[in-house]
Amino acid sequence: MSIVFKDVSYVYMPGTPFKQTALKKINFEIKKGEFVGIIGHTGSGKSTLVQHMNGLLKPSLGVVSVEDIDINGKGDAARVAKRKVGMVFQYPEHQLFEETVYDDIAFGPRNIGLDAEEIERRVRKALDFVGLDFNMFSGRSPFQLSGGQMRRIAIAGVVALEPEYLILDEPSAGLDPRGRETILDEIFKLHNSTGVTVILVSHNMEEVARFVDRLIVMHSGEISLDGEPRDIFRHSRDKLVQAGVDVPSVCTLLAELRGRGLPVEDIALTPEEATATIMAAMRRRDRC
Ligand code: ADP
Ligand code: MG
Repeated sequence: MSIVFKDVSYVYMPGTPFKQTALKKINFEIKKGEFVGIIGHTGSGKSTLVQHMNGLLKPSLGVVSVEDIDINGKGDAARVAKRKVGMVFQYPEHQLFEETVYDDIAFGPRNIGLDAEEIERRVRKALDFVGLDFNMFSGRSPFQLSGGQMRRIAIAGVVALEPEYLILDEPSAGLDPRGRETILDEIFKLHNSTGVTVILVSHNMEEVARFVDRLIVMHSGEISLDGEPRDIFRHSRDKLVQAGVDVPSVCTLLAELRGRGLPVEDIALTPEEATATIMAAMRRRDRC
């Protein structure tokens, strides 16, 4: 049970002077239940990559399959496979259009022909997941809400389709620090409570590293690194920079301290972990 890319290449505007190779022979597998972060600089190919997972873009070469079905094949099987993948685009609030929050979240479930009772159940559950009260929000116009609330409504609209694989392209972009943290916390909780596979795209390493089990780093249309965050940060700073990774400032701090003789051993991805690591190193030093 997985999403598999086999030798996937993608070229924008082939055969024109504007031709742009955005993906180069990509191979990887995302297994059901994983929580994966896809990171990389702007223009590295992250959005192009994930838009292949629900068939929005078709590979110029290669095959994308969801649970062993080529999603760009013909027939019902491909349609069913594609439906297992839910996609939250960058700035999804631009796609809100209904008069009420309820109708906006219900749009997808209605489209797939669910009955009224099931639709209401899904709208309630989806609102709950994004931390908004049904009674307070369902009758309001999405356009009267704050930017962060609109974003959450848009995410709820995809969650209401109950996808097995949930892809979010830069879900926290443009929000203030508190809004960013809230959204990511909610996605993390959703993953933990339902087991839904989450593929989270971000250009902010520090933001995703603490949540995910696995990081895929994109660099110039290729996967430059793929592994557990802790293992990725064991690479040297030079190697990380070469791979297109912005090294979190806590990692730089620890490396600096180590260089100056403080025996910090562990790798830290958050300020809290860095503090614990530094305290432990100081205790060790004082004992010597
Ligand atoms: P990211 O999401 O990592 O910022 P993208 O997948 O959007 O990267 O872009 C990868 C490459 O493809 C970039 O060089 C970008 O300029 C190019 N590109 C993206 N979308 C288009 C498009 N619609 N037409 C032409 N080139 C595009
Ligand atoms: Mg992008």
